[in-house]
Amino acid sequence: MLDIQSIRKDFPILDHKIYDKPLIYFDNGATTQKPRCVVEKIESGYYNVNANIHRGVHFLSQAATEAHEDARRTVQQFLNARSSNEIIFTRGTTEAINLIASSFTDECMSAGDEVIVSVMEHHSNIVPWQIQAARKGIALKVIPMNEKGELCMDTFRSLFSERTKLVSVTHVSNVLGTVNPVKEIIEEAHNHDVPVLIDGAQAVPHLKVDVQNLDAEFYVFSGHKIYGPTGIGVLYGKEEWLDKLPPYQGGGEMIASVSFEKTTFNELPFKFEAGTPDYIGSTALAEALRYVGRLGMDNIAAYEDELLRYATEKLNAIDGMRIFGQAAHKGAVLSFLVGNIHHYDMGMLLDRLGIAVRTGHHCAQPLMQDLGIEGTVRASFSFYNTKEEIDVFAAGIERVRKMF
Ligand code: PLP
Repeated sequence: MLDIQSIRKDFPILDHKIYDKPLIYFDNGATTQKPRCVVEKIESGYYNVNANIHRGVHFLSQAATEAHEDARRTVQQFLNARSSNEIIFTRGTTEAINLIASSFTDECMSAGDEVIVSVMEHHSNIVPWQIQAARKGIALKVIPMNEKGELCMDTFRSLFSERTKLVSVTHVSNVLGTVNPVKEIIEEAHNHDVPVLIDGAQAVPHLKVDVQNLDAEFYVFSGHKIYGPTGIGVLYGKEEWLDKLPPYQGGGEMIASVSFEKTTFNELPFKFEAGTPDYIGSTALAEALRYVGRLGMDNIAAYEDELLRYATEKLNAIDGMRIFGQAAHKGAVLSFLVGNIHHYDMGMLLDRLGIAVRTGHHCAQPLMQDLGIEGTVRASFSFYNTKEEIDVFAAGIERVRKMF
C-alpha cells in the first residue's frame, strides 16, 4: 500500500496553485513531476562531483565517472539486463529509436526490406523509419487495431514476409493506454528470426519491465517520464546486437584510436555514446529509479489501476462522453471527447480550474486518422494523483459540458 499523502510531500510542485486553484496534474504521460531527491541529486552533482568523465586522472573526474557508471548499473538492475554494457545512455526515447533506425538500417537492411510498426505508434517510432525509407528504400507495414484499441494479432502474424527485418512497437499506447501483448509479439517475431524493438516510454513508469523475461533485442525509454530529468534516456540492447551495429554518431568517447588513416571504435557501451554524456542526468535518473523502486512497481501499477477504474466510471457517467481505448489490459491513461466540444476548448477551460491535461493529436496523427478524429483530451495519471482530484476533474468536465 502506498501512502499517497506522504508521497505527495516529495513533490513540491503539487502544492502549487494555478489561477488560485490547487494544481491537479494529469499530464504525466507528457512528463512527470520530480521528487525532491532527484532535484537534490542534480544540485549536489553540480556542486560536489562536477568534472568531465572518463578522461581525467584527477579525483573529481574519477568520482564523476564512478557516479555515471554506477547509474548505468542501477538502470541495468532496474531493467534486469544481463550486463551494464547493454545500457546506452541517450537523450531519450526519440534519440534511442533514431539510433536504432539509423544503425540497424545501415547494417541489416536494403531496399525492399520491411519494418513492422503498429497504428498506435508515437511519431518517434514512425518518422525515424520514414527517414530511413527515404534514404534506403525500406518499407513500413502497419499492425491495425480493433475498436477497443487492441492490436489485431492475427493480422500481425500475416504481415511477416521474407523481407521483414524488424518489428518496432510500443509497449503502452500514449493515447489509448493499451498495454500491448509485447511478449507474444516478441515470440512471434522470433519464430520468424526477426528482432524486436519495444518503445517503453509509457510502460517503464507504470509497470515492472524485465528485459530478459521479455527477450526483446532493444528496449527504450525516457528519464523524464519516470520522475527523472529531461535530456536523459536509455537504449537497452542485447550485447550481441549492439556489438554488431555500427556507431550512430562520431566524436569523443566512442573511439578506441583515431588517425587520419583509420579510426577504431570503443567497446560497448561507449561506442554509442559520442561526446560528453549527461553524467549529472544519468545519476539523477538512477535516483528516480531508486525512488520508484522503493515505492515498488507492483504497488504503483495496482494503485494507478485503481485510479483508472475510478476515473473511467466517473467519466462514463457524463453525458456525451466518448472514451477512446477500451483495451482489456490498459494503463492509467484516459483519452476522451465530450459531445461536440473541441478538445482544445475543454483543455483550456479545465486549465482555468487548475487541471492540467493534454489536448491534440498526442504525436500520434496516424492513430487519430484511424479513429477519424483530430484529437482528444488526455488525462494520464501517476501514483501521486488521488481520487479526490478525479472528483474535481469529473465535476470540471461536467461544468464545461454545461457551458456549451
Ligand atoms: N514514445 C511514446 C509512446 C511516447 O509517449 C513518447 C512521448 O510522449 C515518446 C515515444 C517520445 O519520448 P521523448 O519525447 O521523451 O523522446
